[in-house]
Amino acid sequence: MNPPRPAFPNRPAWVEIDLAQLARNLAIINSHRPPHVAVMSVIKDDAYGHGALEVAQVAAANSVRSFAAVTLAEALELREAGIQQTILLLGERTDNEIAACVRNNLSCCVNSTALLPRFSQAARKLNKQARLHLKINTGMNRYGVHWREAAGLAAQIAADSNLILEGTLSHFAMSDESDKTFAQFQLANFQTALAEIQARNIAPGTSHLCNSGGFLDLPGAHFDMVRVGILGYGVYPSKVCRRLEGIAPVMSVKTRISGFQKLQEGDKVGYGMRYTAPGPRTIAVLPLGYGDGFPRVRNTGSVLIRGQRAPIVGGVAMDSFTVDVTDIPGAALWDEVVIMGRQGGDELTAHDAAALKNSVSYDILTGWRSRLPRLFLRGESETRPQAEGGK
Ligand SMILES: *Cc1c(COP(=O)(O)O)cnc(C)c1O
Repeated sequence: MNPPRPAFPNRPAWVEIDLAQLARNLAIINSHRPPHVAVMSVIKDDAYGHGALEVAQVAAANSVRSFAAVTLAEALELREAGIQQTILLLGERTDNEIAACVRNNLSCCVNSTALLPRFSQAARKLNKQARLHLKINTGMNRYGVHWREAAGLAAQIAADSNLILEGTLSHFAMSDESDKTFAQFQLANFQTALAEIQARNIAPGTSHLCNSGGFLDLPGAHFDMVRVGILGYGVYPSKVCRRLEGIAPVMSVKTRISGFQKLQEGDKVGYGMRYTAPGPRTIAVLPLGYGDGFPRVRNTGSVLIRGQRAPIVGGVAMDSFTVDVTDIPGAALWDEVVIMGRQGGDELTAHDAAALKNSVSYDILTGWRSRLPRLFLRGESETRPQAEGGK
């Protein structure tokens, strides 16, 4: 579970979550979906670092009627907070989780016959039905039953009155790149499996295949529901997928200047003395580091100060790093610094941060550590975070 979140940052380094922008993103996604296609909001890993409960509450108020989580703890956090909507647990369950899943009306993916007797027993004991989604492996070869064997597994579920086949799903390995060949292959396999299930007179329940990339670029694969994660948070899954007007990032990461150093030519900066001043420079010290989830780069990347880019100099340390503000003469103690997000007319995106560590935006969003306080913005008239000991 995550530690309780303070209403105001208790450090001059924080993650800002713009819940009003989240609501706008969800409304835009809603306006682009065909009326018969439902949206399942994917809130795994603390809603990609945005705060699962806060996100789920906004999503529920914006006509989202189902959520996807991965761990039992993630699902129970929402149930305990009163979220009544469908919650689908992705991935595989263990024996000892099954009773809690059934008791809390959590829907579970089924990847094989192995756990069916356990779901059935637990349901009978609790005088309920276990809500199952049949997960089909259509080519990604991670979770799921092979598409040729899906109808057999569906029949086993359908034959047991303690079990409900609430849905049938698969997952794309590559839906957000320009080449859709493999996605089309997976789509064809999913359709084959659905047809075989229906040929046995079994209702597959809600069928769903798309993640954000599929929702944007594969309208022929929407079926009854799309599972939208990253797009709701205002970040595109790739550089090439379709853009929707008005979608913008929900998360920003900010800090404040906590000190300056004046360098002369030849002076060094930081651990390992990785930077040598080519002449007189002014360096600002920022109280955030790789211990907060910032990539451990040296002499690459930049931050925004007074709407201008300040390049990182030296190496990023656990708790701090340094930027060159020589060309931003107005830079002052406790000025707000944008690590990820917008300032003035400029923006540093999650993709920019990902490029610094050869990774993807998903990794950046989920990588900001819990020691950075979360500040939730809910509308126009927000109280701005105050510098500690400053201004
Ligand atoms: C994480 C996940 C999603 C959401 O993917 P996005 O690209 O963030 O939209 C959908 N389905 C499954 C099975 C997932 O694991």
